[in-house]
Formats: sequence, C-alpha cells, structure tokens
Amino acid sequence: MKKNIYSVLTLMLVLIFSCSKDSNTEKDVDEDANQPIDRAASFRSIGDSANDFLSNDEFDKLKIEIGYVRGFRPTVGAIADLVEFLKERTFKEIIEIEYKELESPNKETLTLQEIDDLQRKDRTAFNQGKTLAVYIYFADAPSDSDEPEEDLVTLGAVYRNTSMVIYESTIRNLASKSSLISVATVETATLIHEFGHLFGLVNIGSEMVNPHEGITTDDDGNEIGNKHCDRPNCLMRAELEFGAGMGKMLTARNGQVPDFDVECLLDLDANGGR
Ligand SMILES: [Zn+2]
Ligand SMILES: [Zn+2]
Repeated sequence: MKKNIYSVLTLMLVLIFSCSKDSNTEKDVDEDANQPIDRAASFRSIGDSANDFLSNDEFDKLKIEIGYVRGFRPTVGAIADLVEFLKERTFKEIIEIEYKELESPNKETLTLQEIDDLQRKDRTAFNQGKTLAVYIYFADAPSDSDEPEEDLVTLGAVYRNTSMVIYESTIRNLASKSSLISVATVETATLIHEFGHLFGLVNIGSEMVNPHEGITTDDDGNEIGNKHCDRPNCLMRAELEFGAGMGKMLTARNGQVPDFDVECLLDLDANGGR
C-alpha cells in the first residue's frame, strides 16, 4: 500500500516536472525568436563550432535546415536516425528540422565553392539566442572531384563550421547497385560521418585524447594527418567518405551503420559531448 502511494507521488512529481519543463521550452523558443540573428557565426572554419554542437554551454537548441533540390529530399528514416544520434552524442534535447525545396542549379558537377555560394543564397537558418543552426544541402549533382572510372565518388562533405553537403544523386546510384544497401542506410551513415567532422573529428576542433588520426601524403610527398580515424570499424574512417568504401563496409556489416569507436567517443566526451 505504502509503496503504491510512493509510486503515485513519484508519478505526479514526474508529470509536474515535465509540464513545467514543456512550458519553459516554449518560452525559451519564443525568447530566441526575439534575439538578434548572428549570420557571421555560420561562416567560420570546419570544427570551430564543435563545442557548440556537443555541449549546452552556449546553445541548448539545434535547428537543422535541410535544403534539397526538388526530387532529392532525404528519406524520413535517415533524418529520424540522425535526430536520435544527435540526442545520444550531444546535450541538445530540442532539435527542430526545417525543409526547404530548391530548384536545381543545373550543373553537371559541383565544387565546394559553388555549394558555398548556393548556401549564401538559399540558407535562412542562422544562430539566434540559444539556438545553434546547421545547414544541410542535398545535391542533385556529384562532386567535381569524383573519379567514377577509378571508383572514387564522394558521398558527402563539410565546408564550414555549420554546413555540409550530401551528394544525394551519388548515394542513390550506390544504393541501386546492391540489394544489401538501402538509400536510407547510406544517407544515415554519411550524415553521421559528416556530423563527426562538425564535432571536430579527427583532430580538427576536438583535441585527440589519444593519438588515432590516420596518415596521408600531401602534394610534396610529406606525411600529414588525414583528419580521419585509423581504428578499424569506426564510422570516421577516411574511406567511408567514398562510395566504394561505404559499399564495402555496409555489405560486410549486413547493412548495419557502424558507430564511432572508443577513441572518437573519448575526444567528443573531452570536448563537452556525451
Ligand atoms: Zn570524412
Ligand atoms: Zn574513430
């Protein structure tokens, strides 16, 4: 009997708490709408906003603006998976999604400069009050750096602190080649990989707790870090930016998207994530 009263009391407390929390949330969002818009803060370098994404110190809400070329809207499943991932890895609990349908730029391929120019024209979501904004462009044309004859096609890229591009036409091509790979799975894996870069992985804004950055060679033949993870089975491995690497990995894992490995998670944790 006593136990029942306690559970009723606890339940009531939980209900009261969640009600008051909801009304605060609404108030917060309204207050943010009256704050000045900080457009310049969205045009910094990759990794500069890592801590702003991971912690709630400066921003406690996230607004995701999805600009997609007509006919290239991402799947519902991938965006649901992305929100779940963001709630698991950051302290943001209020995540808002806005879709914006765009005309095709009618290009055979797109350079990152062209994508950044399109962003300046199309993006409407910027930081405001305690709301951090991110812009994701779903393109209908592949990256200009692709070399399809060498099986080197790019699935996604980040080009600023709160901006990424997903090469949706390339993703659909890849998924159409294998019954083991779905469009939604490749979208999810690519979105999370690119968010990893916005979170400062690897060594681009979130300091490494233990060394785990891969190595590549620059044009002069010098060994430099490749901004990716060198651990097996980590979603931040360099080859997962490309169609062939992603296809191979997803096939080997029966279509399961891998997580960040323990080293990448340590880095996020050390920079305010969870
Ligand atoms: Zn990458
Ligand atoms: Zn890793």
